[in-house]
Amino acid sequence: MTEALQKTRFASEDFSPGALQVVERLQAHGHEAYVVGGAIRDLLLGNRPKDFDVATDATPEQIKQCFRNARIIGKRFQIVHVRAGREIIEVTTFRRGHEANPAGQAAQASQSGRLLRDNVYGTLKEDAQRRDLTINALYYDTSTHQLIDHLGGCADVADRSIRIIGDPADRYREDPVRMLRVLRFGARLQFELASDTAAAIAEHGHLLRDIPPARLFDEWLKLFMNGCSAPTFSLLHQFGLITQLMGEEVTDALDIQRASSLRMLALSNTDQRVADERPVTPAFLLAALYWPATERSARQLSDRGESPIPAMHSAGQQIVAAACQYLAIPKRFSLAMRDIWDLQPRLERMQPKKVKDLLAHRWFRAAFDLRLLREETHDLDNQCSHFWAAAQKQHPELVGSARQRRDDAPRRGPRPRRRPRNA
Ligand code: ATP
Ligand code: MG
Repeated sequence: MTEALQKTRFASEDFSPGALQVVERLQAHGHEAYVVGGAIRDLLLGNRPKDFDVATDATPEQIKQCFRNARIIGKRFQIVHVRAGREIIEVTTFRRGHEANPAGQAAQASQSGRLLRDNVYGTLKEDAQRRDLTINALYYDTSTHQLIDHLGGCADVADRSIRIIGDPADRYREDPVRMLRVLRFGARLQFELASDTAAAIAEHGHLLRDIPPARLFDEWLKLFMNGCSAPTFSLLHQFGLITQLMGEEVTDALDIQRASSLRMLALSNTDQRVADERPVTPAFLLAALYWPATERSARQLSDRGESPIPAMHSAGQQIVAAACQYLAIPKRFSLAMRDIWDLQPRLERMQPKKVKDLLAHRWFRAAFDLRLLREETHDLDNQCSHFWAAAQKQHPELVGSARQRRDDAPRRGPRPRRRPRNA
């Protein structure tokens, strides 16, 4: 192990109080414990980690015994959430890869080789092998200030290289989401992909279709809500994964070139908002990314004689249903997407009688922003956005006020408990 130890020394202030406390407590109970993964990678890059994960040789039950505020979660990977003040530290037990398992242990694979369960415990070295990327397989002992790097992760951080651990094809078959993680880190850190890590993606992209839509939606949020959505989308597109993740509809359009400019503008605006620490909602970005498909489908319906508002409504329904085959988009977002689309033909009408109602609509601002994107990228005349900009100036108090009204409405209290029948 000695050759894997590095001299890098981080200060205690580089770690959150919760992470230090969790490592210390586990060690005090006689266990090995390290801060692991993204946090160490980020510290090596001089960035502030967004959260801290801890790896230990203690089993989930043993971890639970060390803390008052600990909860075992997950089935596929059992992890323990330890609450330390306001922080939640994710603590995982060292695991080993499933190929190395003696028969009868708890790792299970599907026919395509995908891991369904992965709760076979191992040593630190085995744990490093089953992680996704070399740059994520770094362990730091905050008591002794030793950094443990069995797989050349430090060299890859220095070379700015994303390298999957082990045989890329096997690792993608075990868990196809790793392909998304490779591209996410490539885009976010602006690292190059090692050639074999990149090459195997083209052949295995289709395996993402085996992943449950709920997990894909979680990954979608990590890919697109983290401030690097534009480069991430481009990379996913380049590797052919965007349609595996979001369906064919995400590239469908009346005018491919213009649709692509609209999408890139929506993505870069979202990234700018994240950089400015302004709120972002998945509903707006999803509405913008699927807009070209919705517009195309609405056009087809109106060519068949349907009027614009019901045509948009049916198209919205159809595209959301298609998108949900891939991503389990929660109802609150899919309803918002459809509202944003439904508002497009209604904004275009610029009817004075409807101004106040539309301004007050909960999704008016998002719909107006989509209209701006459309004007900017589709050479639409800007009479409509001028009209609605003036209306907002005239009635600033109304904009989105339907939401205020709903949020201010008194909450329904807990239901009265039914009296037991024999009381
Ligand atoms: P972030 O900064 O986005 O949190 P992270 O590297 O900490 O980055 P997490 O998703 O928090 O990423 O995962 C924690 C660690 O768990 C990773 O660093 C990696 O070692 C391991 N890991 C996560 N997902 C996988 C996976 N699908 N396959 C193998 N290892 C994984
Ligand atoms: Mg993390």
